[in-house]
Amino acid sequence: MDATLQINNLSKSYKEKNKAVKNVSLRVERGEAVGLVGESGCGKSTLARIICGLLKQDEGEIIFQDKPINLKADRHKEYYRKVQMVFQNPLAVFSPHMRIGKFLMEPFLNFRLMNKKEAWEHCSSLLKWVSLPEEMMHRYANELSGGQLQRVVLARAIGIKPALLVCDEATSSLDVTAQHDIVKVLMNLKAQQSMSIVFITHDLALAQQVCQKIYVMKDGEIVETIQSHRLQEAKNDYTKSLIKAVFTL
Ligand code: ADP
Ligand code: MG
Repeated sequence: MDATLQINNLSKSYKEKNKAVKNVSLRVERGEAVGLVGESGCGKSTLARIICGLLKQDEGEIIFQDKPINLKADRHKEYYRKVQMVFQNPLAVFSPHMRIGKFLMEPFLNFRLMNKKEAWEHCSSLLKWVSLPEEMMHRYANELSGGQLQRVVLARAIGIKPALLVCDEATSSLDVTAQHDIVKVLMNLKAQQSMSIVFITHDLALAQQVCQKIYVMKDGEIVETIQSHRLQEAKNDYTKSLIKAVFTL
């Protein structure tokens, strides 16, 4: 199979935190949704930021579409287009008085992919994709709920047609209904596009729903890799404790 992303022996320390990520290796195939699951503080966001080129690793290699990434080189801009990220808190992405249309159109104009009229039409159709009415193009960010804003963020990320979408606790701040809406969009997407997804969450049940393959992370390390439909066959004690927690809820 074609790997969209391959990470080899990646490590990262912060001044205050030795080895937040320890010798992590993982692989994401084209069109595959991969879960990264573990408790708070285990290094998920550090890994996410390194994958997205927002933070540099100390050791290890990231291979994206068969080429090692070197963000100093000229592939820089292309990389930031091909890899899109959705974070936990949509409120942090918007200024309250920004119009949704302006937010959505920004990357298409920035990357010079479209003129204004084309971008407007494209973005209106993106809203439909995430089940929001077109007229939301005219609304201000502070008129939308957190769940609606997160769908706008997701629509923009998807609209750029990235090869890889990284969702870091993208549904964690949302209520159950809004979470369900986002998951529905992601599953639709998985069925229709060749885009790969790294779905980061502390919620094993959610990862199982969205992903084919799950990496379980603890204290900066991957302790187990397992297919979603074979969770019951987990061998690692930490994975087992996560599974047990899901089923006793
Ligand atoms: P997660 O996303 O799984 O909650 P993080 O990657 O945010 O984990 O954090 C992993 C570890 O690194 C934690 O111990 C955290 O306190 C520490 N850490 C994260 N970001 C920084 C930072 N900017 N400076 C110092 N330590 C950090
Ligand atoms: Mg995090």
